[in-house]
Amino acid sequence: MATRRLYYDDAFEKEFTARVMHCEVLPPDVNSGIMGKVWGLLLDRTAFYPTSGGQPHDLGKIGDANVLDVRDEGDEILHLVDRKPSDPEVNGCINWPRRFDHMQQHTGQHLLSAMFQERFGLPTVSFHLGAEICTIDLRGVEPTAEFLEGAERAANQVVFEDRPVNVRYGTADEFAQLGVRKEVDRKGILRAIEIEAADLQPCGGTHVKRTGQIGLVLVRRCAFAACSSGLRKRKPNLRCKVRHRSRTASVSFHECSKLFLRIISASLPPKFPNQIKQWPWWPLRKGATCSLRSILRPVKT
Ligand SMILES: [Zn+2]
Repeated sequence: MATRRLYYDDAFEKEFTARVMHCEVLPPDVNSGIMGKVWGLLLDRTAFYPTSGGQPHDLGKIGDANVLDVRDEGDEILHLVDRKPSDPEVNGCINWPRRFDHMQQHTGQHLLSAMFQERFGLPTVSFHLGAEICTIDLRGVEPTAEFLEGAERAANQVVFEDRPVNVRYGTADEFAQLGVRKEVDRKGILRAIEIEAADLQPCGGTHVKRTGQIGLVLVRRCAFAACSSGLRKRKPNLRCKVRHRSRTASVSFHECSKLFLRIISASLPPKFPNQIKQWPWWPLRKGATCSLRSILRPVKT
């Protein structure tokens, strides 16, 4: 029996109820790092996203069991859990920070891939979402620094415009007429993600509702990468590294500024710490956003 995929129509569903359709003990899976006793669970419906198409699986809880892995098995979704649920009616709960991070990355990847292809003629071959860095493999000539900055600027412009991100259904022919970025040769009704006036791409993944939820996109670098054994090409692909979480950079920056203040405070006479609070850059310690220039200015004077 096919598992109903709740995330297809509502990627923001964090909790759900379901019925256990099948549960059995599975052997340990060394390749996945699952060494202990594990149960395979089939539900009638699920909000858990399985590893698929470059997006990693969700984690979370089903009843009192921890979800260790989620796998796409054709029509069914297999949940690997660390214990057997005590009740056939279960509540599922997604690890939301992890899922939302994947949604930000995935929509950001669609957007940046659209910019690379439509504005600069570099089609996307594949992509991978990671904990900090998202990589996009492209086909074409190695871009210049100005080119990368242009793609990054174009993507962030769409982020700032906070455009709607819609789920659409249709046939491959219908999507082709609408100008899909990458045509697919599949029958039946397909699911596609539309970034309004920017991109249309068949995809089964989870996405944010508006481009503003992506956050800032930062292209780190782009260089030729060796082909994986399963993807032999005559020429190596370009691998573009994208830091999707500018927050990481700003947090590091903020932590650095706090360390800087601690060092300054420790080296000054005891009466100085109170005076430091009067300095214009003191709001840094309260988490205020500032530019590098505004930090350096008091140091120079
Ligand atoms: Zn996708």
